[in-house]
Amino acid sequence: MKKTLILQAPAKINICLWVKEKRSDGYHEIASLMQTLTLSDTITLQDCRTEGIHIECDDPAVPKGAENLVHKAACLILERFNIPPSIIIRIEKRIPIAAGLAGGSTDAAAVMAGMVRMYEKMLPMVELMTLSQKIGSDVPFVMHGGLAIASGRGENLSFHEPPKPSFFVVIAVPKKVSVSTKWAYENYAPGENSRKEELFNKIFPCYKKRDIESLKNLVFNDLESVTLQRYPEVQEIKETLLEDGNGVVLMSGSGPSVFGLFEDRSSAVKAASRLNQEKVNV
Ligand code: ATP
Repeated sequence: MKKTLILQAPAKINICLWVKEKRSDGYHEIASLMQTLTLSDTITLQDCRTEGIHIECDDPAVPKGAENLVHKAACLILERFNIPPSIIIRIEKRIPIAAGLAGGSTDAAAVMAGMVRMYEKMLPMVELMTLSQKIGSDVPFVMHGGLAIASGRGENLSFHEPPKPSFFVVIAVPKKVSVSTKWAYENYAPGENSRKEELFNKIFPCYKKRDIESLKNLVFNDLESVTLQRYPEVQEIKETLLEDGNGVVLMSGSGPSVFGLFEDRSSAVKAASRLNQEKVNV
């Protein structure tokens, strides 16, 4: 009997991203508070009779071959359990591509976890998360999902209960801008700011308390210095979302997406509609 599995792969935002020194392996040491969203791609896994890993996606901009992170994810699981490849992976894309929302990473994470289930194999979550680091630094986080403080290159994670009720989040992505994470890190020049540790340590407790007023003055994303300089439209979006001062507004990851965190639905809807009305190009 042909087996089919349907999975949700959530996007993530960085509520804070502190980029520290570059390590000898080329990665930067980071500290980040990360949260997954309800915004997600839908992944369908299906057994098939034709040999190979067959990737389908409703978005023509997404690669369908070995460059797709789900291909790497499938290979890792097939090798780990010595299973011959004959699988269809269908991606329904809702997460904007190359936007700093971990779209590719989350698809890969869902495929790895889903394949273990579909082939009825046993692999503890910790082991699966460790294996997933081979794909990228964000993959273990999105595989588990929720709220976490990340360190190392993003793979050392301490998970926490997200605040309740949850925030309302607006995501805005400028048209025709896509940012390579590699480019952003390569162009990052660390400046002196001795207050970063102090700020970072205050963010998690304020986030847990849903203390929007304090968060507004605490959050930072070091990669804004790179992306905002190259793409001023990202700054415009930030300003539009910030206009009535109700939310916490920041670029996510290497951008160019910007998120606004709001305590209530009406503030979020108001901010989102401002983006649509204004000349801001989203
Ligand atoms: P991150 O936040 O993890 O740095 P991102 O959200 O900025 O990632 P992605 O959406 O993962 O970026 O896309 C980065 C590039 O990866 C794209 O340009 C695309 O060519 C490639 N890619 C590979 N697999 C996928 C996938 N499943 N979905 C989207 N892009 C993919």
